[in-house]
Amino acid sequence: MISRRLQPFGTTIFSEMTRLAGEHGAINLSQGFPDFDGPPEILAAAEAAIREGDNQYARSMGHPHLVRAVASSLRRHHGLNYDPDTEIGITSGATEGIAAAMLGLLEPGDEVLVCEPVYDSYPAAAAMAGASLVPITLRFPDFALDADLVERAITPRTRMLLLNSPHNPTGKVFAREELAALADICRRHDLLVLCDEVYEHLTYDGLEHRPLAAFDGMRERTLRLSSAGKTFSVTGWKIGWAAGPAPMVAALQAAHQFLTFCSATPLQVAVAHVLETLDDTFYRDLRAAYTARRDFLAGVLTEVGFDVAPCQGTYFLLADFTRLWDGDDLSFARHLIETRGVAAIPPSVFYLSAKEEGRRLARFAFCKKLATLEAAAERLRGT
Ligand code: PMP
Ligand code: GLN
Repeated sequence: MISRRLQPFGTTIFSEMTRLAGEHGAINLSQGFPDFDGPPEILAAAEAAIREGDNQYARSMGHPHLVRAVASSLRRHHGLNYDPDTEIGITSGATEGIAAAMLGLLEPGDEVLVCEPVYDSYPAAAAMAGASLVPITLRFPDFALDADLVERAITPRTRMLLLNSPHNPTGKVFAREELAALADICRRHDLLVLCDEVYEHLTYDGLEHRPLAAFDGMRERTLRLSSAGKTFSVTGWKIGWAAGPAPMVAALQAAHQFLTFCSATPLQVAVAHVLETLDDTFYRDLRAAYTARRDFLAGVLTEVGFDVAPCQGTYFLLADFTRLWDGDDLSFARHLIETRGVAAIPPSVFYLSAKEEGRRLARFAFCKKLATLEAAAERLRGT
């Protein structure tokens, strides 16, 4: 019954691993969602919005309060200026933003350059738009970008670059020189750019996240996506936003109005409230808490024999298990659930061309309470 466009994608690895974790009573370090609530302010604001009657359809492009809050947050954190009425659109999570952007901006047959491993919704969204992804492989453990590979992957059908930084699942934050090289390629080949920056506030060790839209000549060709899920630990709310030049936002909106029309009104109001009111301490504490969780889990994984890649951002660790297991990543993930009671993501599904790169790796999410990570540590140590 499933259309030919979607048949190749099956069930997402996140649903699959979370189901397996549940079946085996495993500690779930697979799907990236916090096992704690977001700040009390956001929960209270949602309750208040529901009680106060913000319960009907919102303006399709986004609640007026939220588009203004997003515009001022982009100015405050990144020095980016967007007109809230025409240059910002609210979507149901970044997932809808990715799909709506591709449906609104691409023609069938278009090619989209992307760094692999790729987030799993990208190939499916491209397929829905009749476009295809052209992967540039980032290799364990430093995932350095080879700009020559990008240049060589360009064909007359290349229309867009899709860039995710901070990058899931590698934990890489693209360096200024890498971004400058990409910006140069995009300008010379007149490419559109879709930036997935959902982990914009999760960078560590003093590293700054730099939006590609801030580079010379990039604002006019870049649509930048983010969402409330990671920053405010409310992944189930699915409130995302797109910012870009008016024609690009209009293209996204052309699809968004028929995909969902609008996102949950009271949740938009609550996100607007925290974007406006949480001060720098919130963002600093968020980074500090995740740094501690990262360091703890990376330490344990190293201690039990994994080779762990450095994690500069996001809440994921990618680790090579070759010293511990002979088989591929799928068999290792299954083995870990069954014998240790810990679930991780087998990342070969995120590689489109260099699948072998993912077959020796496992991705662990550290967006969990320290107590959860400590319990996982005991299991991994076999104590
Ligand atoms: N992009 C990346 C890189 C992600 O890791 C995720 C998922 N968490 C998303 C997009 C989807 O974000 P949302 O939950 O806001 O749809
Ligand atoms: N982004 C989350 C992750 O990478 C999962 C989101 C989802 O389940 N679709 O783990």
